Amino acid sequence: MITVDGIRRDAETSRTPLRREEHHSCEGHQMAVVHDDLGVAALLLELAIGDAYGAGFEYAPPEFVRRGNTLTAYARHPTHTDIRPGMYTDDAQMSIAVAEWLLDGEPTREDLAERFVRAYHRDERAGYASGFRSVLDRVWSGRELLDTLRPGSDKSGAAMRAGVIGLLPSLDDVERLTTLQAKITHDSPGGIAAALGAAYAVHYCRYGLGPVARLPRWLAENAPEPEGYGRWTEAWRGKVRSPGMHSARAAVTALAAHTTTSGLLRACVAYTGDVDTVATIALAAASVSGEYRDDLPEVLVNTLEDGEFGRGYLVALDTRLDERWGLRG
Ligand SMILES: [Mg+2]
Repeated sequence: MITVDGIRRDAETSRTPLRREEHHSCEGHQMAVVHDDLGVAALLLELAIGDAYGAGFEYAPPEFVRRGNTLTAYARHPTHTDIRPGMYTDDAQMSIAVAEWLLDGEPTREDLAERFVRAYHRDERAGYASGFRSVLDRVWSGRELLDTLRPGSDKSGAAMRAGVIGLLPSLDDVERLTTLQAKITHDSPGGIAAALGAAYAVHYCRYGLGPVARLPRWLAENAPEPEGYGRWTEAWRGKVRSPGMHSARAAVTALAAHTTTSGLLRACVAYTGDVDTVATIALAAASVSGEYRDDLPEVLVNTLEDGEFGRGYLVALDTRLDERWGLRG
């Protein structure tokens, strides 16, 4: 389990008496699993681990994924040399911007756009789609970003960063703010529906609205299901391509089929395709679910990037989210 204290103790002593570590074999690979019943939930930290782990496999050949998806380490991507193992990407960086917007910002598109620009320029990193990145590279304010973007995409950019909004206690607020943020970059039925699915999944898990296995049914009753992207209740199979609804549906299918974060993360990556986004969406929801057991291998926690905006920064933000809304029911 991931804890604020656990991480601090790890940094100082590399072990903690509160932790019980088990070693067991997973398809021939040794895995260390850590259980810590005293832990608090860590939404941004866990989604960043999902993002960073998935980034090593994003659109990688199926054989590379099949061999490497063992949770024993962050993989080095076979061709994306700009992403180091343990480094998170745009999914987590934009989730950080949304979290800071919810905690400190004005509930306006201008303020959130400003935070997207700021989050990128203070910590430029790989993973952004090239078109969006080239816009970010040449704008320096939220106003400029809004004036420059042509936001009709139905891809996954609005969904990958939406999970944290699901923490808000009112589903109406979740809908309103998720739609507002989606429209900045993905003002399309598919882009908005995918973002609502991702945020609603967190809301459903955080507030225990039902068994995780029933999440697809609940989304079918509560979230839009625009034509051409399949249904929430239809189990996703195979490679995940770029439409946001595909990532969101794949994440929802995996969420409903598992109850451990390690099993969930492996399942998200095993799809192949845009798996860092699938893992980001899924782990955000699992991290706040009372039904899920947090058993991410300690090595993934300890080797996540730990620079200025790395592990410590994520944990500090998670603590603030927990104080404001509670990360567990
Ligand atoms: Mg990414």
